[in-house]
Amino acid sequence: MTSKIRLASPLQLESTVDGPGYRFVVWTQGCPHHCPFCHNPQTHAYNGGYIEDVQTIIDELNNKQLQSGVTLSGGEPFEQPLPLIEIAKAAKANRLNVWAYTGYNFEDLLEKEDTRELLNHIDVLVDGKFINDLKHYQLRFKGSLNQRIIDVQKSLKENVVVLSKYDEENQKLTK
Ligand code: SF4
Repeated sequence: MTSKIRLASPLQLESTVDGPGYRFVVWTQGCPHHCPFCHNPQTHAYNGGYIEDVQTIIDELNNKQLQSGVTLSGGEPFEQPLPLIEIAKAAKANRLNVWAYTGYNFEDLLEKEDTRELLNHIDVLVDGKFINDLKHYQLRFKGSLNQRIIDVQKSLKENVVVLSKYDEENQKLTK
């Protein structure tokens, strides 16, 4: 049986704001966090959006042209870890880097087997809820100062959160 995923909107093929380079963005549907002033409130309902075959998304990835990576966003991607593991594996098979956005903290995601397994296939994680009082317009690839842009593989290896070079650049921009 083909795996299914609930999406908020069709695959975006050439985003330049959800990570470096031209990226496929998978917009998942369903989010438990309800951050005040969320930019995507239509993605919160668990029965919203529509169901898509994971294989259809993988076929699109396999037909990539200029993209440098895949971004898993939403909504809350870590509410659907199993289909996203399949998509992240396909991205890796195509030599695409994988970013993910989550309202959870990295440490929370280590506690469940399926969300931890998804982390094993992600290069960079932007974690934490969006906090409007901490937003800053000069930030790249994240919305508010509390969020972290994490080098996931280094963090898993060293068993401590290691920030990516993109977060170090943000720290210089907002000094
Ligand atoms: S985690 Fe993201 S989608 Fe969910 S409420 Fe917060 S900003 Fe909105």
